[in-house]
Amino acid sequence: MLTPDKVKVSIIANDSMKSQKAQIRLKQLLADKEIKIDEKEPDIVISIGGDGTLLSAFHRYSHLLSKVRFLGIHTGHLGFYTDWRDYELEELVASLLADEGESVSYPLLDVYIEHKEAEKSQHFLALNECTIRRVNKTMVADVFIKEDFFERFRGDGLSVATPTGSTAYNKSMGGAIIHPRINALQLTEIASLNNRVYRTLGSPLVIASNEWISMKLDEADDYLLSVDQLSIPQSSVKELTFSVANERIKFTSYRHTHFWRRVKDAFIEESTEE
Ligand code: NAP
Ligand code: MN
Repeated sequence: MLTPDKVKVSIIANDSMKSQKAQIRLKQLLADKEIKIDEKEPDIVISIGGDGTLLSAFHRYSHLLSKVRFLGIHTGHLGFYTDWRDYELEELVASLLADEGESVSYPLLDVYIEHKEAEKSQHFLALNECTIRRVNKTMVADVFIKEDFFERFRGDGLSVATPTGSTAYNKSMGGAIIHPRINALQLTEIASLNNRVYRTLGSPLVIASNEWISMKLDEADDYLLSVDQLSIPQSSVKELTFSVANERIKFTSYRHTHFWRRVKDAFIEESTEE
């Protein structure tokens, strides 16, 4: 009988004692079952820590999204990208041994940053969100939906989030929580100026996957641009374009916490029934 190849994994852990311990234990269990570690071309990337650790793992392997699946183990509080606990490693390894390539995928945000000097243009994928802010002065941005001018924004900044990112920074800015099966992006305002002279929509806005948002910015060198946990140093950004990426992030689907239960557990109260 032909046995299918075993999966190859890569492990990314944060620095906490609990995560480091879990990593050592997991490596031992993997070795016992002859599951190989392959940091260059893994089938499954395992992150140990929190959602932030999974974000780091995503950015480290974002060039391999079509091949790689992610799996999150949490060693702190319940996470949105982490389905496993550090005391379930045996069960996790058993699932890896029985792996049949099953996955669930979520939308990503495509960010295109155009600079004054065209050759400096940059391209990023975000798992949570991208924010553009200005600190020393009011940020002024002309916002377009597809080719059409929508509004002139004045305020601290703007954020564009994915559905899975909607429970992160987006939520703190008053954005809605979007189920990750919805292939869409959400634009939220950060402290917009609204008075008789200046006007913005003033509420979060959700666009579909066949639309895009662009922002034309005033010339300035003090914008703060972030893609997930990364801040992107730049000095001459002119225009930003956001769309639902063609790429998606895949997670192993050995187990799957119902999205609204996750939301309830994280923000309302922990469910008692298993
Ligand atoms: P961090 O400062 O440790 O993250 C802030 C918190 O956001 C952490 O509790 C983190 O969970 C949680 N988080 C991350 N992704 C989430 C998601 N998709 N849904 C719900 N909660 C989520 O920094 P980090 O861990 O590197 O994460 C970077 C993210 O932090 C950014 O993408 C942004 O969304 C978020 N952030 C939020 C604010 C705010 O709400 N005012 C400000 C800056 C950044 P863990 O503890 O499990 O890592
Ligand atoms: Mn964190």
